[in-house]
Amino acid sequence: MIFEVLTLFPEIIESYCAVSIMKRATENGVFSVNAINPRDYTLDKHKKVDDTPYGGGAGMVLAVQPYVDAYESIEKSENSITVMLSPQGQPLDENKVTELSKYDQIIMLCGHYEGFDERIREIIKPVEISIGDFVLTGGELPALCVIDAVSRKLDGTLGKIESAREDSFSDGLLEYPHYTKPRVYRGLKVPDVLLNGNHKEINEFRFNEQLKRTQKRRPDLYEKYLNSKADL
Ligand code: SAM
Repeated sequence: MIFEVLTLFPEIIESYCAVSIMKRATENGVFSVNAINPRDYTLDKHKKVDDTPYGGGAGMVLAVQPYVDAYESIEKSENSITVMLSPQGQPLDENKVTELSKYDQIIMLCGHYEGFDERIREIIKPVEISIGDFVLTGGELPALCVIDAVSRKLDGTLGKIESAREDSFSDGLLEYPHYTKPRVYRGLKVPDVLLNGNHKEINEFRFNEQLKRTQKRRPDLYEKYLNSKADL
């Protein structure tokens, strides 16, 4: 898997991928990240990549030429997808992450300021993805969300310690609560069932906690889960 990120701020992408699990996985060759700066492709003699909006209004608009040229400089693999990070896109969720993890190459366009000249969309025809109904200053954090979430699905990113098998959403429910040492802290005790070594009882306890938690915190997911079981 290769993530190609078009960004005016490559250092944001590079610094995140240079630590912790991302660092280990890239060093082990599970995936690689290549940040490309459209500023290196601008034909403007002052190296500008943005300009004022036609029709007036606040903010600067990212110009079509540097983005399209930077995009076209990327060698596309056969199994490649192009994603524009945008608050106007389809929401990123676990299904979308799984879908994205099936590609060999994910090319991502990060916006900034007022966003993209519309013709970037018309020429490149990306899939647009949003990380939520709020507006950030740039597409770098959303691109890192995609890199982080997708890379967790790739064999070799997570070691046994960070296993994703039982994480929230993997089976349609939120995950059960976790405890570690000490057994008692400020009078709060670890549930006895987790200490008795009976794995059947532990699994039952955890599953019930998943159901309770999901019903309370995310009734929408709980309903969906029950319906999927009813269908089965
Ligand atoms: N004017 C745009 C609008 O109202 O739709 C917002 C532009 S935003 C300030 C600048 C850039 O940040 C966007 O082009 C996009 O790349 C990124 N961005 C901001 N919020 C985002 C979100 N919720 N999901 C994905 N990308 C986002």
